[in-house]
Amino acid sequence: MIGHSIASISRAVLDLLYPPVCPGCGADCSEESDPICSECWHRLIYLRGPFCRTCGHPTTEIHGPALCDNCPVPQPAFDRCRSVVQYCEIMKRIIHAYKFGGRRCLAKPLSRLLFWGCQRYYAGERFDAIVPVPLHSARLREREFNQAAEMLLHLKEKAGFTVEESIVRRIRPTEPQSQMTGMERHTNVAGAFEIVDASKVRGRRFLIVDDVLTTGNTVSEVAQVLKNSGAQFVSVLTVARATANHPS
Ligand SMILES: [Zn+2]
Ligand SMILES: [Zn+2]
Repeated sequence: MIGHSIASISRAVLDLLYPPVCPGCGADCSEESDPICSECWHRLIYLRGPFCRTCGHPTTEIHGPALCDNCPVPQPAFDRCRSVVQYCEIMKRIIHAYKFGGRRCLAKPLSRLLFWGCQRYYAGERFDAIVPVPLHSARLREREFNQAAEMLLHLKEKAGFTVEESIVRRIRPTEPQSQMTGMERHTNVAGAFEIVDASKVRGRRFLIVDDVLTTGNTVSEVAQVLKNSGAQFVSVLTVARATANHPS
């Protein structure tokens, strides 16, 4: 009872400090159970196929080549990547509030998009484990949580997946990639990850999960270390992705 009262008081204090506004549009959400307002949900743009068979960028060619102009350079190490919504302005604000604005409660609604993506793009696929893209320990200390892992906590509850949070480790931090060319991005993340326990990787099928796909080089590098340790198949799913008409 006392614990409950303290929780209510802390919540009231937090609401005063950070009024529960929708991160997409700033609308008052104090009466809502969902931290994202219904209008913003409706304004999200779901990616529609046909898609590049490898990176999942929308294309006009139904039977296009295996790689497209938007695939990571050089050739991606993952077998397949899909994303749920466009990295539009609203999504940028939501993800920014989630990662940098202390709105950790956004993990749950964002995980709903991941769940939708799993059902839509990977129904019938067998994955032995789901792997969140790891953060470097210094970044983790600063942010206090890994945005991908936090979403997976909710996805795991919903879908009963096995989440392997410590199979891959980020051994060095990487620089922001928005101003880099394809090859520079590749060099930036090369060697940034390592496998912690190869016996948990050999012959297994993985799904890597992240919040946003911009260039695809980061998830490709995670896929590369998994493949180097004998992973049989590596797919990727992200909540949002930058596209040619909505770049990061
Ligand atoms: Zn809104
Ligand atoms: Zn592609």
